[in-house]
Amino acid sequence: AKRAGRNTYRYYTGSMTEAAQYRLALDNRLRRALERNEFQLWYQPLYRLSDQRLVGLEALVRLDQPDLPPVGPAIFIPMLEETGQIIALGDWVTREACRQGRAWLDAGLDFGRIAINLSPVEARRGGTDERLRAALAASGLPPDRLELEITESGLMEQGEHAEGFLRSLQAQGVQLAIDDFGTGYSSLAYLKRFPVGKLKIDRSFINDLPGDANDAQLVSTMVTLGRSLGISVLAEGVESSEQLAFLTALGCEAAQGYLFSPPRPAAEAAAWLPRCDAP
Ligand code: C2E
Ligand code: CA
Ligand code: CA
Ligand code: CA
Repeated sequence: AKRAGRNTYRYYTGSMTEAAQYRLALDNRLRRALERNEFQLWYQPLYRLSDQRLVGLEALVRLDQPDLPPVGPAIFIPMLEETGQIIALGDWVTREACRQGRAWLDAGLDFGRIAINLSPVEARRGGTDERLRAALAASGLPPDRLELEITESGLMEQGEHAEGFLRSLQAQGVQLAIDDFGTGYSSLAYLKRFPVGKLKIDRSFINDLPGDANDAQLVSTMVTLGRSLGISVLAEGVESSEQLAFLTALGCEAAQGYLFSPPRPAAEAAAWLPRCDAP
């Protein structure tokens, strides 16, 4: 297959634009990675601000093939979404995160919850509910150890199915987090209607804190909104101690960002985890 891929690539070189060649090469690379299981999950810690305790990990996919330069998810996720292969990747991510979570629990390590990202394309396709249920059952990870991150637009993609899907998640005990909160085009009405457990304030609002008065006001409003609805609020992309102090003073519940740690491989993430009794 590799040889055929290469020949194809050579054959088209004369007539394809550079961008098209790049896309074809990346597509070949992603197909190979899915076939050969070459993706990895890295983890970034989520901390509660009141006591600086670890309350969760966000699983973020990485592609590091030894013979090729690394490429980030911001590049390859959109490509997988276009080709529909995001379904296969999402399936792998779900099963791998559940497997890893179970292994940590068995080792007596308490990660709180593991959060996985659900692409709007996966949400639109449907069947997420069944795939989650199957992955949870196969791994033996308790459902209340899993969190699903979805953007506002991803939620809207579900249309009329959203409510049933979310109620079913809730019934299983899986928590729902709204990712990149504040950037989506949507009314806030869904917060009342849907069982949302967490709002993740997008990093673009956190970047210029505490200096930017507009952002400070917006973040303060989002924290108040969460509190009044009984929804947990987490700030994404916290990079400085000034930002942390500002968010703590506001009463923002939790945060994640380079100030604490960038995403790291599972073996390194294990070192952050406090011990617990294996259930
Ligand atoms: P996201 O879900 O909003 O994930 C947070 C991104 O912000 C991650 O980038 C993380 O490394 C980065 N980040 C965390 N803290 C900081 C910080 O303090 N400063 C800055 N500048 N960045 C920070 P990453 O891992 O490159 O992922 C990019 C996006 O790719 C994710 O955004 C998510 O939309 C998508 N993605 C990643 N993994 C998956 C996955 O398994 N499935 C799906 N569907 N999408 C994924
Ligand atoms: Ca996310
Ligand atoms: Ca985010
Ligand atoms: Ca700003």
